[in-house]
This record gives sequence, structure tokens and C-alpha cells, in this order.
Amino acid sequence: EQLENKTKGKLQKQTCQVVLDHFEKQYSTELGDAWSSVREVLTYPLCWQHAVLLNKFSHTADLEDTLCAQGYHPAFRGTLPYLPRSLKCYVSRTPRRFPSQKHQAGKLKEYYLLNAASVLPVLALEVKDGEDVLDLCAAPGGKSVAILQCASPGELHCNEYDELRSRWLKQTMESFIPRPLFNLITVSILDGRQIGELKPEFYDKVLVDAPCSNDKSWLFSSDIQQATLRLLQRKELSVLQFQLLRSAIKALRPGGSLVYSTCTLSKAENSDVINLVLNSCTNVIPVDISEIAQAVSQQFTFHSDTQQHELLVLPEKGRAWGPMYIAKLKKV
Ligand code: SAM
Repeated sequence: EQLENKTKGKLQKQTCQVVLDHFEKQYSTELGDAWSSVREVLTYPLCWQHAVLLNKFSHTADLEDTLCAQGYHPAFRGTLPYLPRSLKCYVSRTPRRFPSQKHQAGKLKEYYLLNAASVLPVLALEVKDGEDVLDLCAAPGGKSVAILQCASPGELHCNEYDELRSRWLKQTMESFIPRPLFNLITVSILDGRQIGELKPEFYDKVLVDAPCSNDKSWLFSSDIQQATLRLLQRKELSVLQFQLLRSAIKALRPGGSLVYSTCTLSKAENSDVINLVLNSCTNVIPVDISEIAQAVSQQFTFHSDTQQHELLVLPEKGRAWGPMYIAKLKKV
């Protein structure tokens, strides 16, 4: 038991008190009673879970056997309105760590480790074969990889503004996607706010997985000054998110749709941004995605106080997925 406690001690990172105090004030108001159980999970990384997204371009039956032998089972088995058979994602009930695979030039990886809630925005996007898709904020590339597990887009444009992260994105694509498919994929290093002007009415689907206050990582900042500055500048994020969404709308063909997602619980970066878009852009309407929540309600906990076009995944013990906010809009 002593050894176990020692290991736990090492793994248990230190929470940053200024961030926790800030969250406590904001989220107890916004989430009400749900906040105390969410806080318990967020502040205890040992109970965080991860999912294993198989790479349809390279995984073997052996891998699925190994996962099952280790207590993993397929996620998203409910009656989802859109669930491509080619998308295979495994989760385990208890928090455990499947080893990550190293990048090896010329060799495809068999799986991608991610938060299972990260698959929900991709499922909500409902990409069909042949559609032109833009992943506006794409690095490190988890959702681009997931999109390619679901369908064969006409074009998949993966964009990332940060140069270093865009290199990471390119490496992810090289690690997961076979060379012959590279001609379907474009990787750019642009400010996503400009893409609407550069490619107006060009895409059938746009994913805006926006830069946001990443609650999980902010809670474990080791630099108090940096954490304090981030909290002060938090308001600017919603301005950027709104501008990215406006650009995404411009880039969509009429009839096309977009999914907006963040990994924060903050209402200012979630519902408030979407409401501002709905109130100021006359060419978009909300799309009902409540069916998704119903279909996966056994695997995920959703906040009850959201509208039909949005979902908020709340991490809970044993289902420690999220935080993840998802909203879907359609251009008319
Ligand atoms: N979709 C990614 C995935 O699933 O792996 C994660 C994206 S992360 C939440 C948001 C990304 O947006 C960051 O990599 C950040 O560098 C990038 N970003 C920040 N500002 C941007 C901008 N103006 N245009 C495009 N990307 C931006």
C-alpha cells in the first residue's frame, strides 16, 4: 500500500490554487450542483481516462484482441444517427494507460490516444464521402485523423496558425495516413480568421475546434504568474472564437454545416459565443444534436441545462470524459 501511495503521489500533480479559485467561483454559478463532482475529477488526474482510436489504415486484429484482453471495449455502440462502421474507438471503465506509439518515419501508427469526448464533435459533423472539409484549428491533428476514419472527403484542409504546432500536425498526418491519400489533404499555416475571405463558400463541412481556456491543463499550471495572466486574458478568447466562427461561416457553402467545439466548461467561450453568432449572423441556423446525447448517455455525462443545438460533456468518476462543448450550425 505504501508503494502504491508513493506512486500515486508522483502521478498526482499539484493543482494551481489561483486557477482553482477562479473556476470555483465561475463554475459553481454556471454548473450549480454538478460542479462539485466535476471538480473532483478535474483535480484528480489519476482518474482521468483516455480512449484508443484505431487507425483503419493500419491496425490489426491482434490489437483489438489485446485491447479486449486488457479490459477495453468499443465505445459509441448506441444507436447514433451517424456512426460509420470504419470508426473504431476503445475505452476502458477504469483509468488505465495504453502505451503511446513513437513516430517512426515510413511506418503508420495503429492507434491514436485521445479523450473519448473528442470524437463527439467529429460525429456531429457527419462527414460524407466526397465532401470538402476544413479543420480550421487542427493541430495536433486528433480530430483530422478521426474525420478520416469516418469518411473519404473530397478534400480535407487542415489548418493551424502556430508554426511549431503545424509541424506536429504534419507529423500526425504522416503517421496515420497512407501516402496515396496525401493528395486529398492540404495542410496550411494560416490565421483561421482569414480563411473565410480566402476560400469563400468552398467547404461542405467546417470543424472549429477552437483555442480555448483548456480547463484541465490550466488547473495544473506550475507557473502562477502565467496562470494569473491567462485568467486575466481569458475574455479575449471569446473574441477570437467569434471571429473564427465568422470566418468558418464565410468558408461554408450554403447548405453546409459547421461544428464548434472547446475543451472548457466556460459559458463565455461556449453558449455565449454561439448565441452571439446566432444573433448576429442571419445566414446560420442551429442544428439539433440532442440525438447524439441520447444515444451515448450511458458512456458520457451531459450538462442538462443546454439547448438542442449544443452539448456539454461533464467529466464524472468512471466516465471521466471531457470537458467538451459541442455546437452545430447550418448555413442557409
Ligand atoms: N483540433 C485539434 C485536435 O483535435 O488535435 C486541437 C486544436 S486546439 C483545441 C486549438 C488550436 O488552434 C491550437 O493548436 C492553436 O494553436 C490553434 N489556433 C490558435 N489561434 C488560431 C488561429 N487564429 N487560427 C487557426 N488556429 C489557431
